[in-house]
Amino acid sequence: MTSHNEELFEQSQRVIPGGVNSPVRAFRSVGGTPLFFQRGQGAYVWDADDKRYIDYVNSWGPMIVGHCHPGVVKAVQDAAAQGLGFGAPTAAELEIAEELCRILPALEMVRLVSSGTEATMTAIRLARGYTGRSRIIKFEGCYHGHSDGLLVKAGSGALTFGQPSSSGVPAEIASLTTVLDYNDAAGLEKAFAESGDEIAAVIVEPVAGNMNLILPKREFLDAMRRLCTQHGAVLILDEVMSGFRVGLTGAHGHYGIQPDLLTLGKVMGGGLPAAAFGGRADIMKHLAPLGPVYQAGTLSGNPLAVAAGLTTLRLVQAAGFYERLTKLAQDMTEGIAASAKRHGIAFSAQSIGSMFGLYFGATVPTSYAEIMACDKQAFNRFFHAMLNEGVYLAPSAFEAGFVSAAHTDADIEATIAAADKVFAGWK
Ligand SMILES: *Cc1c(COP(=O)(O)O)cnc(C)c1O
Repeated sequence: MTSHNEELFEQSQRVIPGGVNSPVRAFRSVGGTPLFFQRGQGAYVWDADDKRYIDYVNSWGPMIVGHCHPGVVKAVQDAAAQGLGFGAPTAAELEIAEELCRILPALEMVRLVSSGTEATMTAIRLARGYTGRSRIIKFEGCYHGHSDGLLVKAGSGALTFGQPSSSGVPAEIASLTTVLDYNDAAGLEKAFAESGDEIAAVIVEPVAGNMNLILPKREFLDAMRRLCTQHGAVLILDEVMSGFRVGLTGAHGHYGIQPDLLTLGKVMGGGLPAAAFGGRADIMKHLAPLGPVYQAGTLSGNPLAVAAGLTTLRLVQAAGFYERLTKLAQDMTEGIAASAKRHGIAFSAQSIGSMFGLYFGATVPTSYAEIMACDKQAFNRFFHAMLNEGVYLAPSAFEAGFVSAAHTDADIEATIAAADKVFAGWK
């Protein structure tokens, strides 16, 4: 029997580079044929061959209330019936802006955009406009979307200029980005000591989810806040992934660290293209039309995306919502880790809120170097074996996983049982 996934992938590669519209979808990291999905419902997705999977990718984060939540679907349908877009302000945009500012300690003002990439790119432009400085600091392993100045990796030797991590990014632009080690407070201290008065912004994932899941050290977060304040740099917490995932108030609420600017995406769009950046009003007032920093978007605040986002934001405020997700993620990671231990496999796992990390290494990694030292081949084998058992994990060893409110205890038990079966036949 030929697989529809394979046929579709074959055909797609003729008209779409690599057959996909975002590279990690191509399964290059894990090998094999990417799944084409035809539908999702609650915690499940069905591929083109009609095979069902328990979904821990959640569309890379947004689907925190599960696929096709009736409330979200209805809100989008109702909005669509009123008009797909106007390129003019709507009351719903005011409503979601007020809701975001009310929930999140970081936000005094907020602007809506359509993708996380746009949010971080603009936050950096705003920080540069506000400070009149050019240099930014980012951390190896953090992902902030694909704008030129953020597709940068560390140069050789500490504190040399960053180098493009993608072809097409001019070295001149990359050289304005300093790339440091995540969780290395001393490295950050040193960078500020050497060029503190040139630094416009530090951008960071306060819980890192794009190199698998890495939790921040307290001293790292504290150093970052203190140094930015001391040197007049803008602290940008990129919570496109961790926002409404770590908990209702994101990582900045969880750890009690106040950014100057915050970026959001994924969950806040409820599965449709909505993202945002915001923070201190005195900085946000530098944006056009109030100030000289330009930013715009034809689809910004799109009514359908706002409807999906606003409805999702209301749903996540239900009593006990995050407590339940936190327990589901904990139960699952503990269950899988216990199974690995029984079978003598070097494995560790952790979770925070609804985000989790699985590692083929004996101890939970706390740095980029430690995550890179995990056994990638073992992950790839595990990924395919779990897929075979009907469990869809992110197709890369360097991505965090997500549970949703649609996952049940039975789903978690089935996932642990699948892992146990895989580990039993591991040797
Ligand atoms: C996904 C992500 C982005 C980019 O968002 P897009 O909507 O894919 O452009 C930026 N930052 C972080 C932390 C992300 O996880």
